[in-house]
Amino acid sequence: MNCPLCSSTKNKKIFSANNFHGRHHLDSKKIPIFKCLDCGCLYPKISINKKYYKKYYPKNYQSSPSLVESIWLKFNLFYKKLYLPPKCSLLDVGCGSGQFINSLPPSIKATGIDLSKSNHPHIIQADFIKHKFNQKYDVITFWHSLEHFQHPKKVIAKAQRLLNKDGLILITIPNTDSLAFKVAQNSWFHLDPPRHLFLPSVRNINQIIPQGLSYKIVSTPLEFPLDLYWSLKKRPLLRLLYPILKFFDTQTMLIKLSSRR
Ligand SMILES: [Zn+2]
Repeated sequence: MNCPLCSSTKNKKIFSANNFHGRHHLDSKKIPIFKCLDCGCLYPKISINKKYYKKYYPKNYQSSPSLVESIWLKFNLFYKKLYLPPKCSLLDVGCGSGQFINSLPPSIKATGIDLSKSNHPHIIQADFIKHKFNQKYDVITFWHSLEHFQHPKKVIAKAQRLLNKDGLILITIPNTDSLAFKVAQNSWFHLDPPRHLFLPSVRNINQIIPQGLSYKIVSTPLEFPLDLYWSLKKRPLLRLLYPILKFFDTQTMLIKLSSRR
């Protein structure tokens, strides 16, 4: 299996992980996670076919959020909107049931695209890579969806082609440079094996971004309130320092790509 970022075949298995999603253990099937020896990117060794989607994206895999998570979700939607121009056309890739596009004001003409079935009038049910779009967008968002694609470089190159002049691409994604990953390893909250098909470090971001786009990376420690708590399930003593560690947490990052020169 080739590295999804640099296509290198040089890799080493770093560990196996169970099939879990966030704090939810789904089954104990061992999924081998490899590290590319050329670029350092992590990826699960798994065949991507129709069976894969049926098996690892069952209808109930997105469980209903807890009370804390629901409150935080509202804050999260508010925080994401701060990055948007007040009036624009927007495409949300991997939009799920449309939570983000539903939260936007009418001045933002938002469309979502997702593989899962939806009756939402503004959600296209299709594969982003295969779908033929008949318009361009001012903003394209990937809220924790890019890592679910097998060929992230192709995805970003397509997003760049779909972008209007002076457009913006916003990506949130896990970061393996974080202390949480180093400590948690195969129980890292953001591993999501085998749905996360690549897990980058900050250095890997350079490999995904096509020429002609400038970018800025910021850490988003407040994006998931309890991700670090669940990542530290095997380190109860470290949990005592939770508020401090969470404040400096770099488990997830926001990449702001701009076509403006
Ligand atoms: Zn690589």
